[in-house]
Amino acid sequence: MSGLEIERIAAFNDNYIWLLHAADGKATAVIDPGDAGVVRAALDRNGWTLTHILVTHHHADHTGGVAELKAATGCTVVGWREDAARVPGIDMALAEGDELTIGSHPARLIAVPGHTSGHVAYHFFDDCALFCGDALFSLGCGRIFEGTPGQMWESLLKLRALPDETRVFCAHEYTNSNADFALSIDPDNAELQKRADAIIRLRETGKSTVPSSLGEEKRINPFLRADDPALLRAAGLEGMDAENAFAEIRRRKDHF
Ligand code: ZN
Ligand code: FE
Repeated sequence: MSGLEIERIAAFNDNYIWLLHAADGKATAVIDPGDAGVVRAALDRNGWTLTHILVTHHHADHTGGVAELKAATGCTVVGWREDAARVPGIDMALAEGDELTIGSHPARLIAVPGHTSGHVAYHFFDDCALFCGDALFSLGCGRIFEGTPGQMWESLLKLRALPDETRVFCAHEYTNSNADFALSIDPDNAELQKRADAIIRLRETGKSTVPSSLGEEKRINPFLRADDPALLRAAGLEGMDAENAFAEIRRRKDHF
C-alpha cells in the first residue's frame, strides 16, 4: 500500500530532510528538520501544511529548524521519552514500540542508541519505510558519540530484523565514502563492487543514493555483517565474536 508521498530535501552539505505527506491530505510530517528554510520552501511549493515533526536525535543538523517550524505551524513535535530533555519543543514523548500515525499511516518508534544515547528510528511498517537518522547509513552506520559499540550493534540488529523490502531513508549522503571503506575490508564481494559502481554513476549525475533497500544493506553493509563469517574472513577478523568484530570495524572506519 502507499499513498504516502515522500520528498527528499537536501540541506547543508550532505543532509537529507524527509518530508512525508499522506495523500488523503490529512497530515504532513518532516523528519529531522535541521534547517527550517528549506522545509518551509518545500511545504509552500507543494501547498502542504505541516502537522508533525519527528526527531531521531538531538544533534543540531537534525533539530536546528524545529523551533521555527513549530512556531510557524503549531505542529506536534515527536521524539523519544528517554531523551525528551534534548528534543526541542517536544509534545509527544513516545516509548520504545509506541505507534503514531501520520494521516492513516502508522509508524513505530524503535530505540537505536549508539550514535547518541537517545537516538530513535521511525518505521512506517505499512509503507515499508524506515527513517533512521544517523543510526544506519547506506553501507555505513553512525559514528558512536555517546553509546558503546555493543549498544550500537544491538541497535543495528533491531533494524536488521525488519523486512528486506524496507526502504532505508537515512539522513546523510555518505554512501560513496562508505562504499570506499566497505570495499577496503571486503574487496572481493561482487555485489558490493556492483553497488559501488552504481553509486559512482548516480553521484556523477547528481542523483541521490538514498533510499537504499534494507535487503541489500543486510547483504553488503559491513556494519550489519559483524556476525557474518564471510565478512570476518575478508577483514581478517575470523573467529571474533560479533560485538568485538563490530567494534573493530567501526574503529577502522573512524580512522579510514
Ligand atoms: Zn547526528
Ligand atoms: Fe547528522
